[in-house]
Amino acid sequence: MAMKIINDECLKCGACVMVCPREAITEETDGDGETIYVISAETCTECKEEGEPQCREECPVPECIVKA
Ligand code: SF4
Ligand code: SF4
Repeated sequence: MAMKIINDECLKCGACVMVCPREAITEETDGDGETIYVISAETCTECKEEGEPQCREECPVPECIVKA
């Protein structure tokens, strides 16, 4: 149970990183040298305790963060 980021939709704003209570989102570099944001499937709890995925609440792009 985890969320994932659709990189084609992502604006690379980094807002989701700041609000994740589990520090499950990291900034990484893909094979083309592009910055991408990745959610750890092992660490993400879909914010069950918080009620709603905090990253998705904060993300300015609809449908950028979805259930994996
Ligand atoms: S759903 Fe919650 S735990 Fe998972 S990445 Fe988003 S903010 Fe972090
Ligand atoms: S908040 Fe949304 S647009 Fe910004 S880095 Fe995270 S996933 Fe990308």
